[in-house]
Amino acid sequence: MQSFQPAKNILMGPGPSNVAERVLNASARPTIGHLDPTFIGLMDEIKVLMRYAFRSENRLTFPVSAPGSAGMEMCIVNLVEPGDKVIVCINGVFGGRQKENVERAGGVAVVVEDDWGRAIDVEKVRAALKENPDAKVLSFVHAETSTGARSDAKEICALAKEFGVLTIADTVTSLGGIPLMVDEWGIDAVYSGSQKCLSCPPGLSPVTFNGRAIETIKKRKTKVQSWFLDLSLVIDYWEGDGARSYHHTVPVNAMYAMHEALLILREEGLEQAWVRHQENHLLLRAGLEGLGFQFVVPEAERLPQLNSVYLPGSIDDEGGLRRRLLDRHQLEVGGGLGAFAEKIWRIGLMGHTATKDNVEYCLNAIASEID
Ligand SMILES: *Cc1c(COP(=O)(O)O)cnc(C)c1O
Repeated sequence: MQSFQPAKNILMGPGPSNVAERVLNASARPTIGHLDPTFIGLMDEIKVLMRYAFRSENRLTFPVSAPGSAGMEMCIVNLVEPGDKVIVCINGVFGGRQKENVERAGGVAVVVEDDWGRAIDVEKVRAALKENPDAKVLSFVHAETSTGARSDAKEICALAKEFGVLTIADTVTSLGGIPLMVDEWGIDAVYSGSQKCLSCPPGLSPVTFNGRAIETIKKRKTKVQSWFLDLSLVIDYWEGDGARSYHHTVPVNAMYAMHEALLILREEGLEQAWVRHQENHLLLRAGLEGLGFQFVVPEAERLPQLNSVYLPGSIDDEGGLRRRLLDRHQLEVGGGLGAFAEKIWRIGLMGHTATKDNVEYCLNAIASEID
């Protein structure tokens, strides 16, 4: 056996996205102790940068030492106690996982369902809130990566607030790619991922909790069933002025990468990053439609960073074509997930990958393989 040497692929699937050289270099710096005072300083800077990305002043903002799925679980197991009623919006794979997490936490899920490839219908949310005055939490997915649909987080959260219900938002694919205003929209608990539009290696989950969420957690009658994800224990590690108590060992080098990726985002500017994703999406869209692909999601509900498309009728072996793109062009695009398996492609334009050069490369590669 020898050292592993991965290919330099262009990652235009549903994540991970390409990681900038600067971020890879940062993660290769010497490992130091996780309670070293300079490392605590780095943790503090990560929190500041992460608040910038989330558009939030929430003090409790940090990366969970595990992938987006752990952020999902952290939000749900801390806010949901056995017997709590939770309205779960499902329009794709990840909403379904929220429901699974709610039920495993002992909660009672009330499902608001919409078609795959569509946004969550805000009127259905209103009806569910009216019918369930005892609901405690509402959870939804801002950017449904399995379908490419964007739901109206602002409206959904405004409604939940009107009914006095807490909100949990999955922003794994939205953070850094499309407008997300955690404080302005009043989202109570939010989780995201490192490897989508932040273009960081996979394995960390940025989360943020506002005062309402923290108050609710403090009033719990039962212990959170997960020791690792229990916020009341993690807080002393990520918070606390000066001295921090050991909870677990954070992945030190992954934190270097997160810090660098967030610095890059701040240097570009969050709004500029949103514009770049949108502009490259429009370029990709024009090219794909020219090649006979059709978008799954109606225009007003589309995510620029996740382009889900039906293949032209002339392509009968989508898996083989994707494999040729990978083998011959070092280009990774995503296949369909769940109900969309083998039916659609998901072409990601996330973070560092969302450039004009990559869009052109992708369109040329597909064109050369299909004619
Ligand atoms: C990728 C993704 C997740 C899961 O993140 P992992 O890092 O793979 O655990 C959750 N929700 C959405 C919307 C995602 O796109």
